[in-house]
Amino acid sequence: MFCNSCGAEINDQAIVCPKCGVATVKHPSNVVKEPVPHGVSALVCSIFGLVVPCAGMVLSIIGLCLSISGRNSVKSNPEKYGSTTMLTVALSLSIIGLVGSIVYLLLLILMWVGLVDLGLGLFDFYENLLNL
Ligand SMILES: [Zn+2]
Repeated sequence: MFCNSCGAEINDQAIVCPKCGVATVKHPSNVVKEPVPHGVSALVCSIFGLVVPCAGMVLSIIGLCLSISGRNSVKSNPEKYGSTTMLTVALSLSIIGLVGSIVYLLLLILMWVGLVDLGLGLFDFYENLLNL
């Protein structure tokens, strides 16, 4: 490759140009990495998906899609992007949120059909409301 500063031909592995002493672009710390795509939005969706019951399921699914699509973009061009931690965290949180929402819905359905009685009195409460 050629030095960006003085134009001298230098070794491809060179970190600093031996002629002028300027750091080469190829050195990893010199490359300005772009933030991962969808990182923040995937993280926000997955966190809200985790804390908001029922409706959060939709957010978890959006977070899941965003983090997968972000990871695919990074996979196709790993040199271009910085840390993928945000996407990994978003992916984990959205999976937990999704599974949590499914379990929550299943429990609600099971309680509704009377197969599971958690003793929460939730449905007695509704029944009493309806009987008033
Ligand atoms: Zn140089």
